[in-house]
Amino acid sequence: MLLKYIIYAKEVRNVDCIFCKIIKGEIPAKIIYEDDKILAFKDISPIAPTHILFIPKEHIESVNFLENQHIDLVGEIILKMKEVAAKLGIGDEGYRIVNNCGNLGGQTVGHLHFHLIGGRQMQWPPG
Ligand code: 5GP
Ligand code: ZN
Repeated sequence: MLLKYIIYAKEVRNVDCIFCKIIKGEIPAKIIYEDDKILAFKDISPIAPTHILFIPKEHIESVNFLENQHIDLVGEIILKMKEVAAKLGIGDEGYRIVNNCGNLGGQTVGHLHFHLIGGRQMQWPPG
């Protein structure tokens, strides 16, 4: 598609991407946290009492598309997940951070995201 990517003040968005549409406010979501680089919102189909998705505002398809320039961004996302978990009162009891990458990894949305899942006992191994 010719105009697949749109650049908003340094940030790249993909017009076909549902998470980019959430960033733009075109699809509603329950926002938990937002800054200039990161958005966190409730998963539409939660698998636990707490299930929040953390995404970069830059459209990056998956971990496979990360490069050196994204090191700080990914670090900030993980630290923000820790901070939000603590604010929600699940920091000490523990939680799970999940990233699904590609088809066999179970990724269903092609915009990098990290799941913060908590509020119940997790099992291992995952499915
Ligand atoms: P994945 O399977 O790619 O790791 O995770 C994608 C997640 O996005 C799933 O847990 C799914 O429930 C969630 N999701 C898909 N579409 C939407 C949506 O439109 N809004 C929200 N809030 N979550 C979504
Ligand atoms: Zn996107």
